[in-house]
Amino acid sequence: MRNSFTCQAMGTSNATRRARLLLGLALLIPPTDLSADTIVLKNGRSIVAEAVTETGDKVFYEGEAGRVSIPKSMVERIEKGGPVPVRRSPVPTAGGTSDPITPESLPQIRLSLSVAGLPEIMRDGAVDERRLAELASQAYDGERELQIAVNAHLLAAAYEAREERLAAASRWAEEALRLSPLDRNALLLASQIDLARRQFSEAFNHMLVAQTVDPSSPDVLTLLGDADYFSEGAERAIWYWKQSDALRPDARLRARIHRAEEEAKVESGLEHAESYHFVLSWEGSQVSASFGREILEALERQYRELEVALDFSPREAVPVILYTSQQFQDITRAPGWAGAVNDGKIRIPVQGLSSLTRALAQVLKHEMVHSFIHQIAEGRCPTWLNEGLAQMESGESSGQVGVVLSRIYGAERNIPLPELEGSFRRFNSRQAGQAYAQSLAAVEMIRDRYGAYQLPYVLRALREGQSPAQALRSVLRMSYDDLEAELRAYLAQKYGK
Ligand SMILES: [Zn+2]
Repeated sequence: MRNSFTCQAMGTSNATRRARLLLGLALLIPPTDLSADTIVLKNGRSIVAEAVTETGDKVFYEGEAGRVSIPKSMVERIEKGGPVPVRRSPVPTAGGTSDPITPESLPQIRLSLSVAGLPEIMRDGAVDERRLAELASQAYDGERELQIAVNAHLLAAAYEAREERLAAASRWAEEALRLSPLDRNALLLASQIDLARRQFSEAFNHMLVAQTVDPSSPDVLTLLGDADYFSEGAERAIWYWKQSDALRPDARLRARIHRAEEEAKVESGLEHAESYHFVLSWEGSQVSASFGREILEALERQYRELEVALDFSPREAVPVILYTSQQFQDITRAPGWAGAVNDGKIRIPVQGLSSLTRALAQVLKHEMVHSFIHQIAEGRCPTWLNEGLAQMESGESSGQVGVVLSRIYGAERNIPLPELEGSFRRFNSRQAGQAYAQSLAAVEMIRDRYGAYQLPYVLRALREGQSPAQALRSVLRMSYDDLEAELRAYLAQKYGK
């Protein structure tokens, strides 16, 4: 998934900006290992777990509290492969815990689900919806039937979350909650899926319910803090996280607390103002009082434009934080050239600004497009489409680079679009500039030849679990090859001699 964007600085030339934009693109969720093993015990129980190994007379697996071993004599057999409880791996990066806290980088809480006696819920490599419906219809026959139905839905939810189909995952988790509104696992899983979808108030509400059932659960307190971090701010999050850490000491959580404390220190010195869709924080001493109001008005205006353009209205208020350059550096640890970061909060350095400049408005809108797209496509948007839309909707056009681009396509030196689905980080600055330009041109071509109204349909197809190639096929009736050929012709016609 592509969830955290480090975008370019204002006021640099198009080419450098594009090049730099590219290099800073951070990709926060690598695909995780999707398979788990089932340890079938001789007593009929079974344990679904990851990293199952056999050494000597013991079988080891990754349990909730760490590595667990059981005597081999208890084990009937080990079945390889199968769905596992949701747990997204945090991105391994050199920075480790000093990376920004994003919904996707949060350590995930594991569920202890008993899968003993659970009927098969997969069919032909997909969740068997009819089987789930059948189990749901039997749920009120008795306690046991209810638990089987709930757990079956949770396994389906975990499977879809692992496949990065969050809309489907959420649907099954909510269905489990409909069957059993106070089920602890269902609440924990639903809340974690909501966090990954950036539905923070929904996640928070699930955890408030969980807290009434289990008032001193470290997992619940951790998730309450996670949700609050992105809606209420670092200080509230710390309050919950510290309670969790006191109940069950956790070094990783303490690292997040430490980081959030630095952020809270900066936040406490900022001015805050809210509009309907945004929570704005800015350095008050640095800019005039009317500046905040002016920015919020611009943000709301841009929000309305994007609602129309992308046919979607995000429900969550988006935090927008305008830092001094030094604060921006301290908090985001972004490279010196970065002009903005969108990691669930839009963070922009605005050194020396006292009014809304055109460049700042463009950066705000560019970042807002990423926020919209994240919610529409639930993190499944390929980078070329994401950056193409962000550039186009914030008012950039291929005009200046069109001639160069048309030559590149004419000479078949273009980077194939499928190679632009993932992070652009591997590119050098020249390739990076080209990748951004191609992304914008591809989106412009779709707009001009097929209609801008098609673009939100592509995003929705992605949200439903289609791959980019499938989404192009189902919405625009074209393959990637068709898209490249049309783009080549489009550029030749528009910019060629
Ligand atoms: Zn961007």
